[in-house]
Amino acid sequence: MPRFVTHLESALDGTHLDANQLQTLHAGRPLWVKYDLPAIAAAVDRDIFATRDSSMFRYRELLPVGDVIQPVSLGEGNSPLLPCPRLGKQMGLENLFIKDESQLPTGSFKSRGLSMAVTMAKHFGVEKLAIPTAGNAGGATAAYAARAGMQAYVLMPADTPIVNMMECVWAGAQVYLVDGLINDCGRLLKQGIEPIGWFDLSTLKEPYRIEGKKTMGLEIAQQFDWKLPDVILYPTGGGTGLIGMWKAFNELRELGWLDSKNMPRMVSVQSDGCCPISTAFDAGERFAEPFENASTAASGLRVPVAVGDFMILDAVRESGGLALAAPESKLETWQYQSTQAEGISVCPETAACIGALEQLVQDDWIKPDEKVVVFNTGAAQKYVSMQVPDLPRLDAQGEIDWRKLID
Ligand SMILES: *Cc1c(COP(=O)(O)O)cnc(C)c1O
Repeated sequence: MPRFVTHLESALDGTHLDANQLQTLHAGRPLWVKYDLPAIAAAVDRDIFATRDSSMFRYRELLPVGDVIQPVSLGEGNSPLLPCPRLGKQMGLENLFIKDESQLPTGSFKSRGLSMAVTMAKHFGVEKLAIPTAGNAGGATAAYAARAGMQAYVLMPADTPIVNMMECVWAGAQVYLVDGLINDCGRLLKQGIEPIGWFDLSTLKEPYRIEGKKTMGLEIAQQFDWKLPDVILYPTGGGTGLIGMWKAFNELRELGWLDSKNMPRMVSVQSDGCCPISTAFDAGERFAEPFENASTAASGLRVPVAVGDFMILDAVRESGGLALAAPESKLETWQYQSTQAEGISVCPETAACIGALEQLVQDDWIKPDEKVVVFNTGAAQKYVSMQVPDLPRLDAQGEIDWRKLID
């Protein structure tokens, strides 16, 4: 069989849609990609993935491309799962890991979703891609559009980190700055769909970004030898990463490829500067209210409205996990702490996860011997507007008494 996709399915009401044509939303809500899992289990063995090249397309049977659709790829995937004994000890944990997505093309895990979305858009004959972004999704869209020979249009808040602006400009995308947030960008973008013929790559507004993000879950399973960890902490903006991983774990379970019975408890982490999901979780709601006056240095978390809110909250609850918000005022402290403990350049989004982790261990919600994975979703180096501490300046011509300077 060339590809194993059977159909697309409304995440809200289960309506089936044709997977052989371009689709977006159904009744304003996202779609799942569905596969013939028994046919996949009959056709491939899980051990085959280790024998293939390391891009995420090594899982092609479990992806919309199958054997027939040519990927638009920059070698994304296969990020290291790094043991963090020193940070773990500080947190009171014996088995802490960071999955370091900052090492992927364009410096964030966004490359996975956009590689897949651009691949499928190109397959269906799209020419003009448009995206509203809080930062990294724009950079990834620009890069994959260039890779595919397509034109990208990126709308971003005017105060987005400048590296995100420049990576779009360098790759030839047309960039528009908006005095507002990502949801305002999305609203303006909608007005260009009809007249310009844009295809909207917004988070969850087309079905394939989730499938790219799903490969983070497939990789964790493979890297842990098909035994899943106890807890996963994930910094949540639009939620595709968390939703995608939970989908991956369920598909692996149905395929019979997991050696462990337990499924990870999924923890959705936000900053208290923008936390619609944890607010809805605490209120016992399935849908989130728009978050007013969203403000956080973790630009990937500055998403006041998520079209897949119910998918995030369903995944968190089904897994026995939870959603919480870490205090914005301490993000920098946690960022320094984790980078200094392990040498991994932790982004502010992930710093929120470190704060959540500290809290959950203190609350005894995570036990000291549990296996815990935190996602480092992007590279700290992109946040160049961060305040530089006072650093000593040396006179190039002068004499220095180093013993006095360093005590
Ligand atoms: C986009 C982004 C997030 C949020 O990811 P979602 O899957 O949209 O929830 C977190 N961290 C970084 C660095 C991001 O770029």
